[in-house]
Amino acid sequence: MSTKSREIRLASRPSGWPTPDNFALATVELPDPAPGQVLVRNLVMSVDPYMRGRMNDVKSYVPPFQVGEALTGGAVGEVVASNSPRLKPGDVVLHDFGWRDYALADAAGFRTVDATAVPSVNAYLSVLGGIGLTAWVGLVDIAAMRAGETVFVSGAAGAVGSLAGQFAKLRGAARVVGSAGSAEKVRLLTERFGYDAAFNYKDGPVRPQLKRAAPDGIDVYFDNVGGEHLTASLAALRRGGRVAVCGAISGYNETQPPPGPDNLSLLISKRLTMRGFLVFDHYDRLPDFLAEVGGWLAAGQIHVEETVVDGLEQAPAAFLGMLRGENIGKALVRLDR
Ligand code: NAP
Repeated sequence: MSTKSREIRLASRPSGWPTPDNFALATVELPDPAPGQVLVRNLVMSVDPYMRGRMNDVKSYVPPFQVGEALTGGAVGEVVASNSPRLKPGDVVLHDFGWRDYALADAAGFRTVDATAVPSVNAYLSVLGGIGLTAWVGLVDIAAMRAGETVFVSGAAGAVGSLAGQFAKLRGAARVVGSAGSAEKVRLLTERFGYDAAFNYKDGPVRPQLKRAAPDGIDVYFDNVGGEHLTASLAALRRGGRVAVCGAISGYNETQPPPGPDNLSLLISKRLTMRGFLVFDHYDRLPDFLAEVGGWLAAGQIHVEETVVDGLEQAPAAFLGMLRGENIGKALVRLDR
């Protein structure tokens, strides 16, 4: 017996900002699982900035999406049929076959998660998944943040940023400053996400706004956006300061590479360290991350925010909305209704 499943395909490669025309909804008939395979009904999927890079036909740390093929990405689903001893119907699994109603693949591509341990399985796509690990590794290992320091986070109301600021505070940062792209987000940064100060980068140049929010300078910059924010942060960093280069979303939809910082020589005079990282290289830190962040979560010390859109057919709009900044916290698409 086959299963009808819808999927979102890459219809064409965008140049600059993607549009709805770059996506196509298609329906496929999936056969029963072959030996070793399982069929998973997806419950929720993630839309992430890195997917924009995969829409370009360029060599990167993950291969590009192919035109005419279904997109992939993080998702949580429930096993509905299994032809593998590794998984049984009812198991809840985390995997990379998002952007579709049903995933049919070898059981090795799915990892069981404990749906009873969390208020919602969405946590495995945000605070307890790669997003939380990115924020934690960036702060703890890459920036080596120490208690008493001043930390600046850009993209601060987003999935990674809203957690990075809270983790910094919980690890004893003296002052945590965030930037985001709307008045509402700026309000939430201090009211909900524990930031000490925040500003809207769309209100004016970053450098004077950062100076007002951190008059004595910063020790750590958690960079989610690159561009002008990075230049301003190099100016604000104190001697021995560190930059965790997590993302550069301000340039992801540009057709020309944005200009680089014109003040890199400050790395020499101020003995600064700038280090890029990819979360995939740091999964060995999962046990320590889960011990610390799981503890904070259980104690109610972390505010986890999500922007959830309903329906697979809305996934492209959710993705485009996230690139435009319509999300607060993790951008997700619910698929089970
Ligand atoms: P997110 O912050 O939840 O969503 C993206 C946000 O980027 C939007 O909400 C928007 O917020 C902001 N943005 C869009 N254009 C911008 C611009 N020109 N200038 C400043 N901000 C802009 O996404 P996320 O998943 O947490 O990812 C955040 C960053 O981390 C991205 O750069 C991503 O590529 C990176 N990342 C890296 C790793 C890694 O392993 N290194 C892993 C995950 C994510 P505003 O309303 O504030 O503009």
